Amino acid sequence: MKAGAVLSRFSRCLLIAVLASQALVAQRSEQIGPQPKVVAPGALTGQPSSDAVVLFDGKSAVEWLYRDGRPAQWPVIDGALVSKSGTGNIYTKQKFGSAQIHVEFATPFMPNAHGQARANSGVYLQGRYEIQILDSFNNPTYANGSAGSLYGQYPPLVNVSRPPREWQTYDIVFHAPKCGSDGKIETPGAVTVLYNGVLVQDNVTIEGRTTSSDNTDVCDDGPLMLQDHYHPDVKETFMQFRNIWLRPL
Ligand code: MG
Repeated sequence: MKAGAVLSRFSRCLLIAVLASQALVAQRSEQIGPQPKVVAPGALTGQPSSDAVVLFDGKSAVEWLYRDGRPAQWPVIDGALVSKSGTGNIYTKQKFGSAQIHVEFATPFMPNAHGQARANSGVYLQGRYEIQILDSFNNPTYANGSAGSLYGQYPPLVNVSRPPREWQTYDIVFHAPKCGSDGKIETPGAVTVLYNGVLVQDNVTIEGRTTSSDNTDVCDDGPLMLQDHYHPDVKETFMQFRNIWLRPL
């Protein structure tokens, strides 16, 4: 057989093999295997899905405690959980590891306060890692302390803050640090944050506990914490929260 004919036969065999393997891959990918769990979405985007743990539904603060275990005394006013300045941070009864978290908040109008004194609060993941809440609408401060920052570590990718008194949203995907049997972190935690639906933290690696957080074991589950921020320039920060839920991952 001539060399050309051998080459031609080889090419045909190769083509048939490639087509056969493609058909096999297609057949495998179209097989109906195990199905994703069915979850009913909220009636509107942002409302809790059927598998979410509702932490505040606009009615009571029953899911929240102070650090010493006393029931939280933040009042519920017009469906919002309101920071009672001076009474301290509040924590969920439930502790969690990795989770998807939804929080809505409205900052107060505090024109006489500036920088970190203007409507400061925060959502602390596991009580340890703060996603900063601040009125960052025309209120410059250090970037990694502005709204949507992982406080002291990463500034938000953009400033997508709404004006004070308007409702805003955080949608957070938190991956807790993974620890080895020696109680040390093997894989650092990571967090992604959508602020008012816009990506502001893109799977950033958590560098450790943030300022004013709890000194708890980073390998343990922890609660969600809402900050009652103290600043000597302001006596009261009327921070409102609503529609808070999470889905353990
Ligand atoms: Mg704060």
